[in-house]
Amino acid sequence: AKEMGRDHYAFFTERMGSDIRDKLAVQQQLRGAVGRDEFEVHYQPQVCLRTGAMVGAEALLRWHNPTLGRVPPGVFIALAEEYGFITAIGEWVLESVCAQIRAWQDAGLGNIKVAVNLSGKQFAQDRTVPFVEAVLRRYAIAPACLGIEITESAVMGDPDKAVAALTRLKDIGVSISLDDFGTGYSSLGYLKRFPIDVLKIDKSFVDDVCTSCSDAAIARSVISLAHNLHMRVIAEGVETREQLAFLSEHDCDEMQGYYFSRPLTAQAFTDLLHEKRTL
Ligand code: C2E
Ligand code: CA
Ligand code: CA
Ligand code: CA
Repeated sequence: AKEMGRDHYAFFTERMGSDIRDKLAVQQQLRGAVGRDEFEVHYQPQVCLRTGAMVGAEALLRWHNPTLGRVPPGVFIALAEEYGFITAIGEWVLESVCAQIRAWQDAGLGNIKVAVNLSGKQFAQDRTVPFVEAVLRRYAIAPACLGIEITESAVMGDPDKAVAALTRLKDIGVSISLDDFGTGYSSLGYLKRFPIDVLKIDKSFVDDVCTSCSDAAIARSVISLAHNLHMRVIAEGVETREQLAFLSEHDCDEMQGYYFSRPLTAQAFTDLLHEKRTL
């Protein structure tokens, strides 16, 4: 049963979260998973729609456990938050990403910019911002090479604290993206209160942007809203040439999605940097 591989993935995608025994199994395996080196960061290219050039990447965490197989982040991140493992895991991600940025710079591959997802739980901890500062210093990385992606729900718990932490990060030069924009209990007030550099149009609006008048209207409105507030816009989950054409035509700044590339291992992403592939 341990060799089920892909089936395990499907199993977890469909059933996890509801069955208490599955949750306990994950909890047991998550404990110590960092120490056993079971995590890996994958990198999904972010591409400039004007030049077609790859300008950065989003870091996406992968977990391979010998007992459970590949558990998708959509399953284990929430459980890691619930069981209090998310800070250790999140710090491991920041550390790996900074080590990778340093390796790309040392190899002469340029100042590639990487955005890391921060969970609300992690964000609520006083140690997170000092950790980011320390890790940037340790690898001698310009803060402009690091981005942070947060969701509205991540900052809702304690908005004042979130404003302070984000302002500190922005002041040192780390860029802040608001993820999954439009899907949460969005309040436009957040856009005013938080020091946001980038809005990410959620995949759910991109999916039908060519066939649904309302999704098209939402996408166009998010783009102009962002630009009027002097923010950049990234569309996520772009899968087709038609979606790409729509977004380009309506002045979206960057795209990310399977149309250009799935998330890649560090090695595969390095190969892509060598190729200098464009849209
Ligand atoms: P997210 O931040 O919204 O990440 C985008 C998700 O969409 C990723 O799923 C990515 O693989 C997927 N995706 C990108 N382009 C396409 C596309 O064209 N089509 C389709 N169908 N999917 C696309 P993934 O990697 O499974 O991650 C799921 C979620 O897990 C992420 O959603 C994020 O919320 C969370 N996550 C991943 N890594 C981390 C991490 O290091 N820390 C934290 N706190 N959360 C993470
Ligand atoms: Ca994200
Ligand atoms: Ca997202
Ligand atoms: Ca999303």
